[in-house]
Parts: sequence; structure tokens; C-alpha cells
Amino acid sequence: MISLIIPLYREEQGLDATVAAARKALGALAQSCEIILVDDGSDDGTWDAIARHAAAGGVRGLRLSRNFGKEAAICAGLEASRAQAAIIMDGDLQHPPELIVQMVELWRGGKADIVEAVKPRRPREPLTARLGSMVFYRLLRRLSGFDLTGASDFKLLDQRVCEAYRRMGERALFFRGMIAWLGFRRVQIPFEVPDRPNGRSKWRFGALWSLATTGLTAFSSSALRIVNWLAAVFLVLAVVLGVRALWVFFTGQPGAGITTVIILQLLTGGFVLLGLGIIGEYIARIYEEVKARPRYVVAERTGSNE
Ligand code: UDP
Ligand code: MG
Repeated sequence: MISLIIPLYREEQGLDATVAAARKALGALAQSCEIILVDDGSDDGTWDAIARHAAAGGVRGLRLSRNFGKEAAICAGLEASRAQAAIIMDGDLQHPPELIVQMVELWRGGKADIVEAVKPRRPREPLTARLGSMVFYRLLRRLSGFDLTGASDFKLLDQRVCEAYRRMGERALFFRGMIAWLGFRRVQIPFEVPDRPNGRSKWRFGALWSLATTGLTAFSSSALRIVNWLAAVFLVLAVVLGVRALWVFFTGQPGAGITTVIILQLLTGGFVLLGLGIIGEYIARIYEEVKARPRYVVAERTGSNE
């Protein structure tokens, strides 16, 4: 059995096309398959469409009680699956379903526990998004040692990987990073990201920013070390400037200009706040983790054996 998990948020428009393409791709496999559609709290007709597809068979639907975000939707899908392999795919046809056959073949060949589709080139997107993701992936590589450049969420996971993923209890979910952390034998296949045929991307700056900070803080505590480095630099600066100020004082020369004082004030103030901000991010993470709330809440299920 293979599960195809599709997180959906306001995808009513393109859902029929996506499910049709998914059914066709799965139909080409000589193995029993199911499609798990996770409605991430859509406020359009997505859930009704899912219920319709579930009634036709071969599809299970999961409705989250509100919009928890794609990472939580993927998690819900993976926890609902008990198949030998699970494939995660976007619901907007930006992850070509034709690749599924190739992914399953590579997995069946027994040489890979994870088959990941990677983007050698980023899709057409605004310059700011391109720049933002470049900075994020470079920072992540520097801080955590995991190079996720070109990674996508389009992946096939063997059941052992799914099992290991389900055991990761953290609230701050970052799917591709967590899968990278898990290790296992992996094979990559390149793919071109086509334009979205329907609707538009749900990612807004705020959501991407929070995903980026989650990714960075959840994957490494090295950012905290930046604070120490800043402190060290300032300590050296303080000693040098302190000695100089004393020298000037005891030799009876007039004191240094007010400009220096202002610049130093601003610099120290700025860096202290930056340090506090970084520490604050980690405290926020700890706070979220210790609350230990569920990562998502399922409001409704539909389809086979529910
Ligand atoms: N998605 C989701 N919850 C969200 C945002 C997005 O489940 O809060 C789903 C969305 O329906 C789609 C996939 O995640 O299937 C990718 O979303 P989108 O196409 O908006 O992102 P992009 O392709 O721009 O990365
Ligand atoms: Mg998309």
C-alpha cells in the first residue's frame, strides 16, 4: 500500500484536476494506493470537494479544525498513513504527479528509503522571494550544516522513515529539515516547477518569515553563539576605547568628541537588542514546546474505513 498525501488550503478550484492527475499516476503502479487529502482549514468549498472524491473511493479526507499551516497538514497526513510508503505532494500541480511512478520505482529498487524531488532551478517568482530564500538556505547551511538548497516537500518516504518522523515530537515543524535530519538512504530526482495552473500561492511574507525563523531556530542553536561573538567583539572594543579614554584623561588632553559617544551608544544599543531578539526567538520556541499542545486538531474524517 502506498499513501499519497496532499495538503490543501483553499484549493477548491484546482482540486478535481489534481485528484484526477493523482489517480492516473497511481493507477500506473501495480500496487494498492490511497490518496489522503488534508484540508488545512480551508474556508472555501475544498472540504465538500474532498468529501465528493472520498465518496468515489480510494480517497480519505482529513479536515483540520482551522488553518494550521502546511507543515502541520503534512504531519496530519503522515500520522494518518500506515502504508509501506508515503508520498507528499502539493495540491496545486506544481509537483508533477507523473514523477510518482519514477519515485516508486526507485524506492522499490531497494536502494533508497527517501526519494526526493529537487528543484535545480527555482520557479518563476519575484526577486525578493528568490533573494529571501537564498539568504535563508545559506544561513541554514551555515548554522545547522544541512544544505537544503533546491529541496522541496515533494518526497517519497519509506515506512521506516515515516515511523521515525512520527516519533519526532516537536511542535515547531519544518518538514524538509526534519527529513534531512533523519538521514536514511536518499536518492534525488530533479524536476522543473511548472507555473500554478489555478489560484495563487498562499505564502505571504509573514508566513515565510515565521517558517524561516522556525527552520533556523529549530535546527540549530548556533544563532545563540552569534550573541557570544558579538559580546567578544564589544569586549575588545571596550578595553581598547577604555584604555584610550583613561590615557586621554590622565594626560590632561581634552575628551573625545560627542560623535564617538553617540555612535558607540547606538551601536551597543543596537547589538544588545539584536542579542535579546535572538535569545527571545529561542525562548519563544521553548515556550511553544513546553506547552506541548497538539500540533493540529482533526475536526472531521471521511472516506475509507473512517
Ligand atoms: N497549503 C496548506 N496550508 C497552508 C498553505 C498551503 O496546506 O496554510 C498547501 C497548499 O494547498 C498547496 C501546498 O501547501 O497544496 C503548497 O502551497 P502553495 O502552492 O501556496 O505554496 P508554494 O507553491 O508557493 O510554495
Ligand atoms: Mg504552489
